[in-house]
Amino acid sequence: MMNLNIQLFAVPFRKVSKTRKRMRRAHNAMEMPGVTKCKTCGEVIKPHRVCPKCGSYKGKEVVATKEAE
Ligand SMILES: [Zn+2]
Repeated sequence: MMNLNIQLFAVPFRKVSKTRKRMRRAHNAMEMPGVTKCKTCGEVIKPHRVCPKCGSYKGKEVVATKEAE
């Protein structure tokens, strides 16, 4: 058998049009990271973490903060 030493790649059958490319990339946008609001002070915080502003978790104060009165 003849050895032609040709490397074969998977090649797209036809050019992807601007519209097709844009339609595919319509789903590539970044999503918002998971954030919730603090029950006590309403600050935007990461879920399942003590609020860094008022030191509360699930509506109860669990960590003393400097601003706490
Ligand atoms: Zn808070």
